[in-house]
Amino acid sequence: MSLSDIQARITAAEAQAGRAPGSVKLIAVSKVQPDDRVRAVLELGHRTFGENRVQEAAGKWPGFRDEFGAVDLHLLGPLQTNKARQAMELFDVIHSLDRPKLAQTLARLADEMGRCPDLFVQVNTGAEPQKAGVLPDEADAMIADCRKLGLPVLGLMCIPPVDEDPALHFQMLADMAARNDLSGLSMGMSDDFEIAIAHGATHVRVGSAIFGARVSH
Ligand SMILES: *Cc1c(COP(=O)(O)O)cnc(C)c1O
Repeated sequence: MSLSDIQARITAAEAQAGRAPGSVKLIAVSKVQPDDRVRAVLELGHRTFGENRVQEAAGKWPGFRDEFGAVDLHLLGPLQTNKARQAMELFDVIHSLDRPKLAQTLARLADEMGRCPDLFVQVNTGAEPQKAGVLPDEADAMIADCRKLGLPVLGLMCIPPVDEDPALHFQMLADMAARNDLSGLSMGMSDDFEIAIAHGATHVRVGSAIFGARVSH
């Protein structure tokens, strides 16, 4: 697979779902990928990337931004409150707003800094104990709390359980977003982004299908 193959599949899935061309944003998930693979995708002109860890992103993206200009950077992994300031300085969008305490911290820092990244509330649609995110029955209250804090919540994000039909989880997230008047849906990865688009994804997060298997250390 390559970037252009994935873009073509996204365009086809948009058409199939009767959605406007360009309505789905492709986030190229570059976590743990060697720099030469990331540079190759930058050289093709792609400018929207996702990372899981603040530390790792801080090590590689300032350099790439110097070299390639503005890059739209999305944080996808869990965020500790003690890294929140650094994350807000580095990232344009945070997809992992997963607890009230983090919402309070982001709101306080946003006041102080005079700006805030766009946010997605992460929902643990499968209620998996090891997974981040608010539980489905806590989501409405969390969204309301974030709005009271003045946070720019764009939408909802989920990572479905590996052994379940992702369509059920994508639909649950889409329903939750609709009843809360949220237009953003961050859902779909390498193996299921077309299904996510059929259910209304606005942001798909695709790593290995673009870059190849992640190299483990
Ligand atoms: C790693 C990761 C992805 C990309 O996964 P692939 O299967 O490589 O496409 C997407 N979203 C999150 C939150 C991730 O951690």
